[in-house]
Amino acid sequence: MHVAAIVAAGGKGQRLGGEVPKQFLQLGDGRIMLLRSLETIGRSALVQEVVVAIPADWHGRALLENPGPKPLTFVEGGSRRQDSVANALAAVSDRADLIVIHDAARPFVTTALIERTIRAAERHGAAVAAVPVSDTVKQAAEPGGDGSRLVRATLPRETIFLAQTPQAFRRDLLTRVLIEAPDVAVTDEAMLFERAGLPVHLVEGDPQNIKITTADDLAAARARVRGERGDGPSSAMIRIGSGYDLHRLVAGRRLILAGVDIPFERGLEGHSDADVVCHAVTDAILGAAAAGDIGRLFPDTDPAWKDADSVQLLRRAMDVVRTAGYVVTNVDVTVIADRPKLAPHVERMRANLAAALGIDAGSVSIKGKTNEQVGEIGRGEAMACHAVVLLRCSV
Ligand code: MG
Repeated sequence: MHVAAIVAAGGKGQRLGGEVPKQFLQLGDGRIMLLRSLETIGRSALVQEVVVAIPADWHGRALLENPGPKPLTFVEGGSRRQDSVANALAAVSDRADLIVIHDAARPFVTTALIERTIRAAERHGAAVAAVPVSDTVKQAAEPGGDGSRLVRATLPRETIFLAQTPQAFRRDLLTRVLIEAPDVAVTDEAMLFERAGLPVHLVEGDPQNIKITTADDLAAARARVRGERGDGPSSAMIRIGSGYDLHRLVAGRRLILAGVDIPFERGLEGHSDADVVCHAVTDAILGAAAAGDIGRLFPDTDPAWKDADSVQLLRRAMDVVRTAGYVVTNVDVTVIADRPKLAPHVERMRANLAAALGIDAGSVSIKGKTNEQVGEIGRGEAMACHAVVLLRCSV
């Protein structure tokens, strides 16, 4: 048996996180929701490879580096869940004969549940994790004219189960039911099997394997993560980052600092516009989110970033940080240069940084500092910048 896991994280539902789909929100331990499922899947000896469906415009891939030892492939999510699954299935290796599908909105899945589901599908062809209900289950009639509803019947609750993921299927059967039902909207893959008249076996699910749908679910999930860590309520909700950059000052280049074109006889040398302030701030925010650094996001070997506007690079980095579930609280910048004087330009620089970071200028500090004519900076051969930033959880 060769098992491929498909993680459905292609949804764009932004109800909980403002601009960020819920599967990319922080649970308060410095990791995004999706990463938790990937790490759990990574711990199963039964799974040999993982394919993740993510939205096409999601910038946070750096947040998922090294979630485990298994090969990890990303594909674009589709408009419907089954489209995402079909895209992922196309990226699964030929060797896989069993597919286990998991929803990234269920971050508390356990390796035991994944393996239970895989074993059942190996035996029966199709298996879904599901939990029994303890409440009495009422079926409602159509709403009346005033919107009120009447009970039509009480369903025998011993026959009612709530489906979860993981759901696991023989690959040939899953491929078949996806092809057979191109126009049927389903809320899980098991429905495609039921529609095709194929048996689907229930596996004992896990009541802790909740789906994060509402703000209350998210709050409960974060409380649980804090409990696991033994933390107080706030320790992982703020993050600090520092950034540093230096560029040579040379003749024949423009001097651009925080996006402001500053009149001076020399400018900073570099592959991009060499905006030392934007570069330091970019590294500070990426560092605070543990999302890599400017060199990894915008390598200077890539012609795309030649003469790039570094304010735009900062905006892109800010997209990554938002995706990680953070917003900026404040930033403090120190520019080290003996000349030119920065004071006449500081207000415009602050406004540019504030706009790129999505905060008020009152939360952006820029200070100039001379190097007392000491060393390369003191001799006017280079300019350097330090930045410190504080992030907080966006929800
Ligand atoms: Mg630089």
